[in-house]
Amino acid sequence: MKYKVLVIEDNEQNIYLMDFLLRSRGFEVIQARDGMSGIGMARETAPDLILLDIQLPGMDGYAVAEQLIGDPAFCKAPIVAVTSYAMVGDKEKVLAAGCTGYIEKPIDPDTFIESISRFLEPPRDGKE
Ligand code: MN
Repeated sequence: MKYKVLVIEDNEQNIYLMDFLLRSRGFEVIQARDGMSGIGMARETAPDLILLDIQLPGMDGYAVAEQLIGDPAFCKAPIVAVTSYAMVGDKEKVLAAGCTGYIEKPIDPDTFIESISRFLEPPRDGKE
């Protein structure tokens, strides 16, 4: 089974890095560069995991998470905030907005896949 990851991020370097790391480990990657298109793509593609930047142009990551959670058609994928905010209050805020968890920027290429894999459901292939 190939996991599908939706990356909602506006920074080209971060998109490039996450896309590279995910694809090199066999993930399928869908990219959105702002919140509105991210919400649309979540509906269309039903990803297994969403990586959500908090600082986005227009609608920020908190609002995106809240809108996704409130959407009855949402596929219920875990939403992982990718945040450069190191403050404790912001971590609580991303969880309060409905995110499953968060990872911190800058992205560490050595631990990124391991960090996000914790949030993925095991493949539903009938095995225990
Ligand atoms: Mn950003």
